Amino acid sequence: MFRCSEVAERTSRLIDDELGFWPRVNMKLHIAVCRGCQAFVEQMRTTRALTAMAGGAAEEPVPSDEIRDALERYRMRSARIS
Ligand SMILES: [Zn+2]
Repeated sequence: MFRCSEVAERTSRLIDDELGFWPRVNMKLHIAVCRGCQAFVEQMRTTRALTAMAGGAAEEPVPSDEIRDALERYRMRSARIS
């Protein structure tokens, strides 16, 4: 399964439907169990939708401090488990 950083790297491609089958499965598995990435994907989707409605070029959101913290906590927890 992907790590948070790998999910974050691929989020825009997931939304644009540019990922292959297995990367997409890995993304969905990770997102299903990781609240930090759920929040990040939601934020990205919302930003994309708003940008599309405004008719402008899509701009990648920078993860907020809150999400970065959540990702960091998740990474530390995963590191302890493995
Ligand atoms: Zn994650």
